[in-house]
Amino acid sequence: MISNSEGNEKRLSEIRSFVRDVAIPAEVEVVEKNCIPESIVDVMRKSGFFGWSIPKEYGGAGLSTEELALANIEISQAATAFRARAGTNTGIGSEGIVQDGTKAQKEKWLPRLASGEITACLALSEPDAGSDATALKTTAIKLDKSPEQFLINGTKRYITNAPIADLFTVFARTNPSDLSHKGISAFLITKDVPGISAGPEHKKMGQSGSPVSEVFLKDVLASRDDVIGGELGVGFGTAMKALNKQRINLAALCIGPAIRLLDEALVHVKKRQQFGKPIAEFQLVQAMLAECKVEIEAAKSLVLETARARDRGEDITTQASICKYYASEMCGRVADRVVQIFGGAGYCADIGGPIEMLYRDVRLFRLYEGTSQIHLLNIAKRILK
Ligand SMILES: Cc1cc2nc3c(=O)[nH]c(=O)nc-3n(C[C@H](O)[C@H](O)[C@H](O)COP(=O)(O)OP(=O)(O)OC[C@H]3O[C@@H](n4cnc5c(N)ncnc54)[C@H](O)[C@@H]3O)c2cc1C
Repeated sequence: MISNSEGNEKRLSEIRSFVRDVAIPAEVEVVEKNCIPESIVDVMRKSGFFGWSIPKEYGGAGLSTEELALANIEISQAATAFRARAGTNTGIGSEGIVQDGTKAQKEKWLPRLASGEITACLALSEPDAGSDATALKTTAIKLDKSPEQFLINGTKRYITNAPIADLFTVFARTNPSDLSHKGISAFLITKDVPGISAGPEHKKMGQSGSPVSEVFLKDVLASRDDVIGGELGVGFGTAMKALNKQRINLAALCIGPAIRLLDEALVHVKKRQQFGKPIAEFQLVQAMLAECKVEIEAAKSLVLETARARDRGEDITTQASICKYYASEMCGRVADRVVQIFGGAGYCADIGGPIEMLYRDVRLFRLYEGTSQIHLLNIAKRILK
């Protein structure tokens, strides 16, 4: 299997070293300063973390879906900010270009994204368009005097890495009279184009060090060359292709924190003594540990099998939703149990270390890239067909 290839084993071992020796020791600083030190981002750049999913011919590692899932399971064992820093480049910020970009767009952007020289983000959600992303109101209106040029106006909300992004994939309605997904096109806009700006960082529950903000577009001038693939009206399809793959990525990214939480719990239960013995000896505590292990293994098997199916060229649309739903809910349950296992130390960061942070960090997984409810609806719709 591809996953056992020597190159990938070496990569996974490098990621493990990064997580253990660089990222985890820096977690407190990242939370306190609410950013990842640039020296660590440089290590991530040099280690190729920004280009995992980008094809080799454009400077990336060209990982298969399975290899990427395995890499994501490793990197996400450190605080989520680390993987989120590179995650928009090797994920939603580049995937639209990889899938549907013209050759010129791929040559222009992918090598710079793969090296981490620039940072990308995907700007789909809006104040009135969340779960129903097709309701987006941002418009890209053709200029009368120059029909190959557009003026983009609108507001995007909750955009990961927007405050530090150089390249924005902006979804806008090029056909205002078509309120369906067919009226939407995807534009590549750089931060230096007049009229585009990121708002102040949202004040989030968790994931400190991963900047997220609104994006304001006021009379932003774009040309036909900025439209992904050069074709109008297919932008929503591009977003769905990117998000379909991303659902497997995200499911894998839910497994890493769950593994970390269980590892932390396994150490804690042997050290913490109550009633004259380690709490590991209490069967009710053992049950919580075992339940965590069962669910982690189930999620891992599901995600890796779905990744392999995608690599075989199978349609994994339903499975991707199942993965995203199950892995994100699983991670929430594991985090909750581990807080329980730690007792007060799970609630107080100064006593219990990373548990309180991880509990808050993983809450987002059930919300973004399709809430759990939206995935359940999607799964139900597809199996009822
Ligand atoms: C920190 C963060 C980072 C993000 N990063 C990005 C990003 O990089 N790019 C981007 O484009 N977006 C991003 N998002 C947006 C994210 O994808 C949306 O928040 C998500 O899709 C949910 O939309 P909403 O928040 O508007 O919730 P809503 O759509 O308002 O949903 C609210 C509640 O209603 C439920 N609901 C909605 N519709 C239905 C229905 N039909 N049936 C049953 N229940 C329903 C939902 O499940 C949820 O429980 C991010 C969000 C956050 C919080």
